[in-house]
Amino acid sequence: MFNVQVDGVWRQFPKGTRVIEACEQAGSYVPRYCYHKKLSSPGNCRMCLIEMGLPKLGPDRKPELGADGKPVINWMPRPQISCAQDVAEGMGVRTNSPLVKECQRGVMEFLLINHPLDCPICDQAGECRLQEFSVEYGTSESRFLENKVKKPKNVELGPRVTLDDERCILCSRCIRFCQEIAKDDVLGFVDRGSNTVLTAHPGKRLENNYSLNTVDICPVGALTSSDFRFKMRVWFLKETKSICTSCATGCNTVIATREDMIYRQTPRENDAVNSCWMCDYGRLNFDYLQSERRLLEPRIFLGNKFAAVDWPTAIAHAALQLKPFSGWEIAVVASGRMTNEELWLMAQLARALDVQLIDIVARTGPGDDILLSTDRNPNTNGARLLGITSEPGAKLPVIAEAVKSGRVKALMALGENPIDTGISVEQLSNLRAFIVMDILANTATEHATVVLPSLGFAEKRGSTINGKGRLQRLNRAVRGPGNARDDWEILRDLLQALTGSNGIYSIEDVFRQMSEAVPQFAGLTLSKIGDLGVQVMQARESPSPPVDPAVSDIEKAEAKKTSGRSR
Ligand code: SF4
Ligand code: SF4
Repeated sequence: MFNVQVDGVWRQFPKGTRVIEACEQAGSYVPRYCYHKKLSSPGNCRMCLIEMGLPKLGPDRKPELGADGKPVINWMPRPQISCAQDVAEGMGVRTNSPLVKECQRGVMEFLLINHPLDCPICDQAGECRLQEFSVEYGTSESRFLENKVKKPKNVELGPRVTLDDERCILCSRCIRFCQEIAKDDVLGFVDRGSNTVLTAHPGKRLENNYSLNTVDICPVGALTSSDFRFKMRVWFLKETKSICTSCATGCNTVIATREDMIYRQTPRENDAVNSCWMCDYGRLNFDYLQSERRLLEPRIFLGNKFAAVDWPTAIAHAALQLKPFSGWEIAVVASGRMTNEELWLMAQLARALDVQLIDIVARTGPGDDILLSTDRNPNTNGARLLGITSEPGAKLPVIAEAVKSGRVKALMALGENPIDTGISVEQLSNLRAFIVMDILANTATEHATVVLPSLGFAEKRGSTINGKGRLQRLNRAVRGPGNARDDWEILRDLLQALTGSNGIYSIEDVFRQMSEAVPQFAGLTLSKIGDLGVQVMQARESPSPPVDPAVSDIEKAEAKKTSGRSR
């Protein structure tokens, strides 16, 4: 630990702490544009200038001590940047001296000279560092009477990112992110002085699968998300902490919503999972929740047509359809997208019916060595831990064969389309009972005898275990549409209809049951999982080697499954 004086108070900081971080820890926030704690420090914006000093050495080359027994500080005559230097023993720092304030005012004035000041039409307004710092550290007047330099506007840097060069303050965060994190050196500065502009290198586009992180870290409105642009002012958005469910990494997110519409997802810092980043594929994978294919009402097949019914009727009908069959005659195609609570209730249901043929659908896609996992199920580990499967997908051919031979007479499909597992439409039509619980209508839904509409990842609560064995929490950001219902409630009611009262009234009750039976969950509750999750299992090896993260490949693979955005 080093002793450092920050604004007159001596404190201790671990060796290797950046001065700018030490100041923040000491409660003296130093404004910054180019500095980002997960990137290198070029020190080019000059916003973090402070006064710095080192211990004054006596004739014996030892620090001179003052009357208080602390080192006497020899202050440097010129301000120093605080982002590129680590703390040192006996160092002194002033963050609010008249010289520092004058430097901050000067830097703000320089940054605003050519800035278009188009806050009323800028997407960043409301969360813009230039706005915030000009209020806090700048002056309220401009002395600039000359014409501002004109630069390119509305530039498509790639399929998902739009650039306004006039707003760029040349901090180089986006360039460094592409070089250091995305490993795709695609952006750079060209031209000199006031005419310097950010651009993609000739013949290149910002189209890597992490491109939207540049929008997050751009401190101003120069880089905007083409998807979110002009859709909503940020101060109207409600923010909910949750996790991405598009692959086994489970990146921590903030879901921004208004009136039950999701407008964007942004990454939330969790160093045990995703640092500060998330991939574009997962970030944009939420449109399906507002799809026209959403299942909105429980339905049963009566006579020769579907009838929309209320929930008690649908559950009673599903239970009635399952009851005549032995466990030998029932199969379940479950999903690695289901939460632990849903999988747990599913396991109880399978036990009550003595069902052996149960498995989840293994879902894979191209991955990379940054975040994106080849396992596209968010909760494969949960399904393993709760005994639904030991080798995901291994039993599906057996289930398909049993349906084909007529041995299986009742099939439950939970969040999956059994046609994708090798069961034909005709075989589905021949089943005596085919119970579907899902979010979207698919090719199998119209052959169901009971349809139970359920909720998507942003509409419900629950927990999952990511590929590295971390138990994390989903939170409800929006209400589900129509009469769709929380999956755990549907399964709880079905279990109740088949076996009688089970004493489960809330999702907390389900978790409590799990924590009493599963040693890895012992002592935990949903609230104890917290915002950053809890490690409950060992990390598993990635099922296949990493591949090129080019988003075009990823999108092509996903687009095959759905028209438009994938689920
Ligand atoms: S576009 Fe944004 S992140 Fe990139 S250099 Fe300009 S201000 Fe910085
Ligand atoms: S890496 Fe996986 S969990 Fe993270 S944002 Fe992408 S799809 Fe979602």
